[in-house]
Parts: sequence; structure tokens; C-alpha cells
Amino acid sequence: LKAIINVPPAHYRSKASVTYPIGDHESPIGFVRLSEPIDFGTNLLDQLKQALITAGIGAVILAIIFGLWNSNRIASPIKSLAATSAQMEGGKLSVRANLKTGGEIGALGDQFNQMADNLQATIKQLEDERDSLRRFIADASHELRTPITALKNFNTLLQGPAASDPDAQNEFLLESQIQIERLAWITANLLDLSRMDAGLLELDLAEHDLCEIIESSATPFETLADEKGISMNIQLPENPVKITADRPRLEMAIGNLLDNAIKFSTENGEIRVILENDQECITLKVCDIGQGISPDDLPNIFERFYRGRVHNVEGSGLGLSIVKSVVEAHGGTVDVESIPGEGTTFRLVWECPNLDSYEKRNHVTRDAGN
Ligand code: ADP
Repeated sequence: LKAIINVPPAHYRSKASVTYPIGDHESPIGFVRLSEPIDFGTNLLDQLKQALITAGIGAVILAIIFGLWNSNRIASPIKSLAATSAQMEGGKLSVRANLKTGGEIGALGDQFNQMADNLQATIKQLEDERDSLRRFIADASHELRTPITALKNFNTLLQGPAASDPDAQNEFLLESQIQIERLAWITANLLDLSRMDAGLLELDLAEHDLCEIIESSATPFETLADEKGISMNIQLPENPVKITADRPRLEMAIGNLLDNAIKFSTENGEIRVILENDQECITLKVCDIGQGISPDDLPNIFERFYRGRVHNVEGSGLGLSIVKSVVEAHGGTVDVESIPGEGTTFRLVWECPNLDSYEKRNHVTRDAGN
């Protein structure tokens, strides 16, 4: 059979079978077809199966490798986030996640860092408040201890050595009275200040002419200024300046500024109180040509109980914190400029958005609010 099919025409031959014509090649009477045994197909199927299994295993291995790589890509930034948050939980608030990845995970990292920034700022603020509260309590107890100790001493003296001396008794009673008034003043103002700062103090607001408030604030200080030979020069606009205010409190704030201006002025000095009212704001300046404030003291003078270091003038250190709280409660701001040896200017400003319009402000009659 091999000999018969030795030279078969190419088109009669395939890989699996050979077909040979019987008789004339041009018009054969039949064909003989010789095929590979059935094993051939089976082999082919086996080969195919093998190839499929190999491809399947390859695909599975690839899928596993890709899955591992992908899960590692997602898990490692999350692990890093978890490690950062564990460090933060341990008190290290300055650490930040460094994910070095984009997309949603990167955005998550950015958000985490933003949250950490806010948290750190809030905790810093709370710590500052806690420190200032501690300072405040220490200062307040020190301030209250002084008059209480004085009262205790007067009491002992009145019961002992001064019991039979009417002049000494009178003197100690008078001193006791001064200390009691000081105690009452400090406690009342401290309470007011705390309420004002917490927004719990209800201001008794009404419409007033600020010019009148300034004039009535200055009246009690005229004698004091005269005694020191200090001239008080008050410059007010021609028209009334309408403002909605708690009059006694605003008078107290302006009074505190005038009191300081007199206290810290040298003899024969000058104090100027200038009120300006324009389209943008109302500005009240209290200027003196006194000893001024040292740059070291300047940032602290509005703190409760803070007193400048270089003078020995009486005071509680509460005056300016009252000014600040009152002015801010009235929607204004207060700032200070001072040159040691030359003088000091306190500036109270009420910006227009916190006020009625300029026209309305000017159309109040002089006796408004009285
Ligand atoms: P007190 O006057 O009772 O000490 P204040 O709160 O009114 O407390 O003032 C705080 C500090 O600010 C003062 O102790 C003083 O050092 C400084 N100060 C305030 N006003 C003036 C001023 N006009 N000139 C110089 N120093 C001033």
C-alpha cells in the first residue's frame, strides 16, 4: 500500500488520510482512501486538552500573581494609614500619611492628612485655652488673696492691739472698707468678663449718641486730670453719632482707657479723645503723651490680670480686658499703638457692616437714648 501511494497527487493527501484513484486518473472508477487509525484524532484531542490545561494553569498563575500584586497595591497604603493613625493615637500628632499613590486611595490619604491637621490645630487651641485658664485661676486667686489677707489682718488688729484705740479702729475700718470694695469690684468684673466671653451676658442695648457717651464717661475723670495738671481735649464731630449700645458698659470701657491715660501720663501731660465718623466706620481714639508701653508688654496688655512690668502704679490688670470684651460684644475692635517715652493711642473701631448706614447714624437727635 505504501508503494501505491508513493507518489500521490498533492491534492489527494491530507495529514490524516490519503485518497488514491482507481483506474484512470482522469476518470477514476473509484478511490481508495487510507486513513490514520482513530488514534490520530484522539492524539489531537489530547494535545488540545494539554494545551488547554497549560493555558488554564498559566491563566490561573497569572491571575494569582496579578491579584497578589493588586491587593498589595491597595493594602500597603491602607496599612500605612493604619500605622499613622496608631502613631497619632499614641500622642504623636505631627505624623502624616505618605501614601505616594494617586486615585481614590491617594485622595483618602490627603483627606486623612487634612483631618490630622485640623485635629492638631484644635488640640493646640484647647491646650492654649487650658493654659490660659490655669493662668487665669492662678492670677484670680492671687488677686483675691491680697484683699482677703489684708481684711484678716485688720480683723486681728481690731480685736487685739487696736481694740482700745478709736483712731486706729477708724483707720482699719476705712482700710477694710476699701479692700471690701476692691473685692466686690474684682468679683463683679470677673463674673461679667466670663459671661461676656462666653456670650452669656445680655447687653441692655438701646440707641445712643456716642458723643454723649464719651462726654459722660470723661466727666468723672476731669478732677483727677486737673489734679495732675493734665489737660483733657475731647474732639467730637458736629453731628451726633448714633450707636446701639449698652451705655453703662461702654462708659465703663471708655472710662478704663481714660483712667489708664491719666495713670500713665506724666504731670502736665495731655490726653486727646477723638471721635471720627465716616462712610466706612466709627473710630474713637484715646491718646496720651505718657510713658508708653514697652514692646515686651504690648502683646499681653489685653490679657486678664496682666500688668506692665516697668511701673509701680496701682491696678488690677483687668481694665483693658474689660475694654476689649465690651467693645467686641458691641461688634467693634480695639487696638493699640505705643512708643515708650512718647505715648500711647488706643483705637476703638466699629466697621460699617456692624452699624446702621452713615446717613442713619447721623440722623439721631442729640438727646437720643437719654
Ligand atoms: P491696670 O491698669 O489695672 O494695670 P489694665 O488692664 O488697664 O490694668 O492695663 C494693663 C497694663 O497695660 C498696665 O498695667 C500698663 O502696663 C499698660 N497700659 C495700659 N494703658 C496704658 C497707657 N495709657 N499708657 C501706658 N501703659 C498702659
